[in-house]
Amino acid sequence: MEPAAPPIGSPFDLRVGKSDGVDESDVRSALETGDWGFIHSFTTGSAVDGPGVRVVAWLSACQFRCVFCHNPDTWKMSNGTPVRLERAIEVVKQYRTSLRTMKGGLTISGGEPLMQYRFLSKLFPAIHQVGIHTTLETNGYFGERLSDADLASIDLVMLGLKAIDPDLHKRLTGMENKPAHDFARRLAARKHPVWIRYVVVPGWTDTMEEADRMAEFAASLGNVERVDVLPFHQMGRFKWEKLGMEYKMRDAQPPSRETISQVLSRFHAAGLNAV
Ligand code: SF4
Repeated sequence: MEPAAPPIGSPFDLRVGKSDGVDESDVRSALETGDWGFIHSFTTGSAVDGPGVRVVAWLSACQFRCVFCHNPDTWKMSNGTPVRLERAIEVVKQYRTSLRTMKGGLTISGGEPLMQYRFLSKLFPAIHQVGIHTTLETNGYFGERLSDADLASIDLVMLGLKAIDPDLHKRLTGMENKPAHDFARRLAARKHPVWIRYVVVPGWTDTMEEADRMAEFAASLGNVERVDVLPFHQMGRFKWEKLGMEYKMRDAQPPSRETISQVLSRFHAAGLNAV
């Protein structure tokens, strides 16, 4: 594979087939060694993906199939551009001074970044050791793949918990939620800083019963610094249509301000810093 720089742009840019020409054995070897990462998009100056102003890389591939997903083009590894580890490190290091000034850092998101955990196991320590704050945004399903040493190079975990009710979670994402909850408890036992991200999806996770259960779980952990309550939006709809995929949320309206404020109040009542 030829070395490439991370593809600049928003995760809301539709990207497909960026590594279609890459040999299957090269993809396998990249995943086994972690010497290459498949990056869907890369941006600078984000103020919503962790503390301060951040450089964000969205990695491709995800094992979930969330019905509300805003970025279904990140699901396939082949929609990411292959980027050599050294190149990724070099690019992020260029921003070291400004990231420090803006109290920011590097956030790795996706897709689901832990689909490429070997790449992260090399990338995070290299970035962390030069004093750049590191954040992993994950659905938590493959959290057990990270060793304690890996976790030591990740300053903050932003854990996207989709639903507490197991059946609801399975219908919403196609996968079980127990692995993510186990990961949350492991992080809690380590007192590892965590932000929880909870998307309020109309008709799915907008009930107060679900919000109460999520708040109770988050509060029981003791290491959750903040909860981001995120309203579902329709910015990803065009991707589902362009990809020719059935979009169950096609006609859904974003939750009302009142619903969001009620959900927030349930987290506040549990003693959490929810925003
Ligand atoms: S975990 Fe994130 S990227 Fe994966 S399907 Fe769900 S919303 Fe989309």
